[in-house]
Amino acid sequence: MMLDQLDIEAHVNDPVPAPEMLIDGQWTTGIEGAETNITSPVDGSTLGTIASGSRADVDRAVTAARHAFDDGRWSACPPALRKKVLHRIADLIEQHALELAVLGSRDNGTEISMSIKAEPGSAAATFRYYAECVDKVYGEIAATPPGTLGMVHKEAVGVVGAIIPWNFPLMISAWKIAPALAAGNSMVVKPPEVASFSMLRLAQLCQEAGLPDGVLNVVTGQGSVVGAAIADHMDIDVLAFTGSGATGRRLLEASARSNLKRVYLELGGKSPNIIFDDYDDLDMAANVAAGAIFRNSGQVCVAGSRVLVQRSIYQSFLDKFKTATDRLIVGDPLNVATQAGAIASQDQCQSVMGKIEAAKADGLALVTGGEQILVQTGGTYIAPTIFADVPADNALAQDEVFGPVAAVTPFDTEEEAIALANSTVYGLAGAAWTNNLSRAHRMISAVKTGVMHINTYGGADVTVPLGGHGQSGNGYDKSLHALEKYMNLKTAWINLG
Ligand code: NAD
Repeated sequence: MMLDQLDIEAHVNDPVPAPEMLIDGQWTTGIEGAETNITSPVDGSTLGTIASGSRADVDRAVTAARHAFDDGRWSACPPALRKKVLHRIADLIEQHALELAVLGSRDNGTEISMSIKAEPGSAAATFRYYAECVDKVYGEIAATPPGTLGMVHKEAVGVVGAIIPWNFPLMISAWKIAPALAAGNSMVVKPPEVASFSMLRLAQLCQEAGLPDGVLNVVTGQGSVVGAAIADHMDIDVLAFTGSGATGRRLLEASARSNLKRVYLELGGKSPNIIFDDYDDLDMAANVAAGAIFRNSGQVCVAGSRVLVQRSIYQSFLDKFKTATDRLIVGDPLNVATQAGAIASQDQCQSVMGKIEAAKADGLALVTGGEQILVQTGGTYIAPTIFADVPADNALAQDEVFGPVAAVTPFDTEEEAIALANSTVYGLAGAAWTNNLSRAHRMISAVKTGVMHINTYGGADVTVPLGGHGQSGNGYDKSLHALEKYMNLKTAWINLG
């Protein structure tokens, strides 16, 4: 269906899920009964409340997950049945796609034109992909000496914890939940307190699809309470996380303090988008570069936040980049024409504005934007912002903003472009625009990132891994490789007599 045929109005007043969490198949308030009001970034209105979970709620959820794992209701059920349930979840996400996308956009401000594809669209595709993996996991027989048999079994790890960020809460939940369930695990998931509702609705759909009680538990609330309790827990075997580097470090420390659970981190980035003068369609490169940093108002982990441009085309590219940026429609996330929606929360808005003010104070050249806009709506919006001639050692070229701010820097040679690209602590994504095939391959090898795009930016689907190098993380979401995070290898060594 075309975007402009979507009946968004039909869902703008849908009730949001109740302030309850899912533990052992029951929707329940937290033990302490505390709740948190949730404000919509679209217009500052109160959207609803979530239950503020406690350590005791996490304990209850882990106990339920462990019990469900040990009695085999999911872990030991026939693979064909697990596959069927995961397909049903994908079916239900597709049936409720518009409802989920609108709910998510009201909660975190992502423009509906992006969220309809990136949230329910991607989540459904992810469940379908891993549904098809369930009965295609094979063990190994090793090349052992005569008289022995060495086999390698692949087993579910047990209880998986997952902590989710607010920028794509449905898609990123699916990236963790689908492979973990496909492998036969039970789970305790913490949605982001800023935007929990679409993940709670996903949990309802998982129940409706026939996922047995206790296999998927959801505890809402603050990261410093619920997230920390998951990280510290002695009975969680693997923890999968997407979010900031600062939280990622805390999770590794908590693992070291507790039971040495495996911790997989998908963290931030400062991804370089490199434009060479041999690329023949600068308009295309400029348009895509604008989308790469400004869609979802830059709240995208792989956002192309550093634009590196060869000096011979620097000014003409900058002009085209400014034109493409100024053309973007920024505003109401629930309008299908909008290309950049709201900043997810007041806190995030202040954080981004602080970094813009610091860049101005550093004397960086402001090309466009640089201010909060649409304040009269009551929502949180920032104009797409470009700073030019940004020195490589400036904070704007080094630190993640996670907002609609591009830092543009010129370079002269390919070697300089590579050095600039690799000059941050991150290594999540990048792109090179070139008509030179050899140069394209050289850039793929030389730029130290988990994803390199050539003559495009973004859009990689569930078939390929997403993971960070350097301080962008240590694990992979998506693809067959993500399944491995949620399985243990076990060797069987048999004396054949
Ligand atoms: P965040 O780290 O503040 O929060 C992420 C999650 O961690 C939330 O659910 C939060 O409640 C929880 N949390 C916060 N403090 C915690 C603590 N002390 N212990 C345990 N859990 C805690 O990050 P954010 O602001 O929600 O997300 C934005 C960040 O996520 C950005 O840096 C972005 O680059 C990154 N991100 C990375 C990817 C990726 O795939 N690599 C994808 C999306 C976002």
